[in-house]
Amino acid sequence: MWTTMKWQKQLIVGVWGSLLLMVLLCGCLSMRPSGSMRSASRKMEVTGYCACGACCNWRHNTAGVPVIASGARQGQRKAVGMTASGARARMGTIAADPSIFPFGTIMYVEGYGYGRVEDTGRDIKGYHIDLFFRSHMEATKWGRKRVPVVVWAPSDMARERS
Ligand SMILES: [Zn+2]
Repeated sequence: MWTTMKWQKQLIVGVWGSLLLMVLLCGCLSMRPSGSMRSASRKMEVTGYCACGACCNWRHNTAGVPVIASGARQGQRKAVGMTASGARARMGTIAADPSIFPFGTIMYVEGYGYGRVEDTGRDIKGYHIDLFFRSHMEATKWGRKRVPVVVWAPSDMARERS
């Protein structure tokens, strides 16, 4: 009886351990293209942003609720730290013009690393992308640069899978 229980316990730990490992691995790999995927490189205007009100056009209203600061949706509730695709913003989140770079496009930005298009921005049009940083200080430090960006389009990823 004791040995069976011990064995079961080890099995449960093992299963959860491998599940956790899989989740961690997938989380990292999702921002990396596979070796055979086709990529294109071009110089782009690259800026930095964070989740703050100045970067994401929101402010606290008189009740202390975060609302959109200006534009057509002014005054509407703002989910701080959430991207336009619904994913939570984190290091590696990139805002881009969705008519050129759809959500899921993987990019490699010199000086930043791998990232994925998951967000949009009012001023992010054409070949101008915005990189997410954890703090406003880091975003400001990046500033505005013209650097080479390697792009893997999601259509190539779909072809890769089939
Ligand atoms: Zn900011």
